[in-house]
Amino acid sequence: MNKDTTLPGLEKNQLGRVAVILALVTIVWGLVIMLGWLLNMPNLTNPFPGQVSVKANAAIAYIFSGIYLLSYLRWTRTELQTQPPAWLAPLVKLSSIAVFATGALTLSEYLFHFKLGIDELFFKEKQLSPGTLFAGRVSPAPAFGITLIGASQLLLSFDSMKLKRVAHNLLLLTIAICCLSATGYVYGVSVMNSAGAVTQMSAPSTILLLILATGLLLANPSLGLTGLLTSDTPGGYASRRLLPAAVFLPLMIGWFRLKGQQTGAYPLELGLTIMVSAMVVLFALLIWGTAEALSREDHVKRLTETKFRGLVETAPDAIVIVDKDGKIVLVNEQTDRFFGYERAELLGQPIEILLPPRFRQNHPQHVSTYMTCPRVRSMGAGLELYALRKDGSEFPVEISLSPLTTPEGLLVSSVVRDITERKKAEQLLIQQAAELSRSNAELQQFAYVAAHDLQEPLRIVTSYVDMLSQKMEGNLDPKSQKYMAYIVDAASRMQALIRDLLSFARVDKQARSLVPVDSNDIFQDAVSNLKQTIEEAGATITASALPRIRADRAQLAQVLQNLLANAVKFRGQEPPAVHVSASPDGNSWVFSVKDNGIGIDPKFADRIFIIFQRLHGMGEYPGTGIGLAICKKVIERHGGRIWFESEPGKGSTFFFTIPIRPDTPASGQTAPAENT
Ligand code: ADP
Repeated sequence: MNKDTTLPGLEKNQLGRVAVILALVTIVWGLVIMLGWLLNMPNLTNPFPGQVSVKANAAIAYIFSGIYLLSYLRWTRTELQTQPPAWLAPLVKLSSIAVFATGALTLSEYLFHFKLGIDELFFKEKQLSPGTLFAGRVSPAPAFGITLIGASQLLLSFDSMKLKRVAHNLLLLTIAICCLSATGYVYGVSVMNSAGAVTQMSAPSTILLLILATGLLLANPSLGLTGLLTSDTPGGYASRRLLPAAVFLPLMIGWFRLKGQQTGAYPLELGLTIMVSAMVVLFALLIWGTAEALSREDHVKRLTETKFRGLVETAPDAIVIVDKDGKIVLVNEQTDRFFGYERAELLGQPIEILLPPRFRQNHPQHVSTYMTCPRVRSMGAGLELYALRKDGSEFPVEISLSPLTTPEGLLVSSVVRDITERKKAEQLLIQQAAELSRSNAELQQFAYVAAHDLQEPLRIVTSYVDMLSQKMEGNLDPKSQKYMAYIVDAASRMQALIRDLLSFARVDKQARSLVPVDSNDIFQDAVSNLKQTIEEAGATITASALPRIRADRAQLAQVLQNLLANAVKFRGQEPPAVHVSASPDGNSWVFSVKDNGIGIDPKFADRIFIIFQRLHGMGEYPGTGIGLAICKKVIERHGGRIWFESEPGKGSTFFFTIPIRPDTPASGQTAPAENT
């Protein structure tokens, strides 16, 4: 149901339920009448004394029609199935023909004045009820009603809208006849009777035919007048309010007028005046109320339309709305701007006009596939989409589709975003990334080659300087001795620097793939490499249970070794005590190396991880400033990060993260608690 409307419609399910009740009432009432015939109980064949009885043939026709209505409701439950299932179809048609024939043959008996022997086929009418001309024969009016019902049932069982529409009109005619008969009963001056006894329709037949025709109409809620009456359109609302009033108000007011006149409460003229005035006032009020509701609805509609238009027109993207055949029905201003067409040039055109020729051939197929399963989604996920301007140029686009259910049928709204700028930016980014990684690789290669090639001449320089200083020992004056010592020192320092530079360059060069490994083993590797340093410093190195991780074992051992070595090297007054632990945090393991050393000023947070950056002179603590730079490089290669928390004089804790991979679950902490 359309949620933008203030007018309620009627649900198909509710109508179906009412139709089921109507069918059941018909069947039960029909059976009761049959029982009356079986047991010869006139009270059951017509409970209203002094009236024509409902004949057995008519009762059978009503029961059949009630059963038909029930099964019709069952097989038309889904929109797709409009015909009875194959096994039931012949039965349905046969019973409809039987109902039709009951009515039609009876009518022909009246018309052609002969007896077909069908009137008392089942029961003899021993005692003619008042108004019955021929024993057991259904009166002409109900016979006509039954003929119409039978014909409608037959027509409804075909899968043709045209036939269904004819059936709909026949049912309306049936209702009209029943209303005429009912009016006669209400006024106590049977209209039907006035044309002669043969035309009389009993009250039960009037009601049952009315029920059947209404039930069959409700079972087809989208057909003709029923469709209009049940719809949530202004027409539906107005007809639901006005039609019952148009039927019942004159009937009611007329009844009052008649009764008043019959009892002599007022003369003819006064009665007429009251009746006309009452009708004028009541109808005027009713029309006023309905018109008010309709204009409120119209107001809401206009407001919604204005909001919708505003939204569409101010959207930064082009919005193109197409109908189920792929024809453009609405475009916004941006569409004109993007594609270079005038609005009028696009309306009514197939959407393919906006596609480059290479996409056109398969597009109608895509449209009809979308129509069978319409939902909000983006178009051509993972594909590069392009749109075509009027001047023949193309531009890259991103398109999202959403279905719009409207009274005119299903429409599809496509929001087209011009992604030319984004594409350019992406392209530039890709180029820059490629450029960056190329120059990075070049730089690394250069550092490696330089360090590697410098090693040899430097080794020669150091060894010859060594030899020279040994040879000249005692022959040099103190100044020259001092210079010689500088040269030796500088040469060995340069050697250390080059060696460290080389190991830094090797982080990438000698990288191995990441494999599952127990970090307790890595810790043990690091500790045993530092055995001598630890013993000399009298340090205590402990570790909690460490997890299994995916890592390059040698490189991660290098990281732990560097951190442990620093923790021991930068010790304070106390003997060094270092603790290594790890805990999961989100998608990563966070390792920590905590010492009781001299601590670091947090302002050097970034500096100490830069290659050859140190906070102390060589004289204070030995080293070249490569250790933490290597740690950073290795950890980043593993997809983690490294940082520290510290306060001068209060020890430092270095942290690094290693992502938890699916094959190394967070619960993978394995080793026993203490490793010393
Ligand atoms: P190196 O140890 O050769 O000096 P690093 O890159 O390992 O080089 O360390 C850089 C600097 O960071 C060190 O010179 C030192 O000042 C500081 N540092 C590193 N680890 C610690 C620590 N555990 N305690 C105090 N300072 C540290």
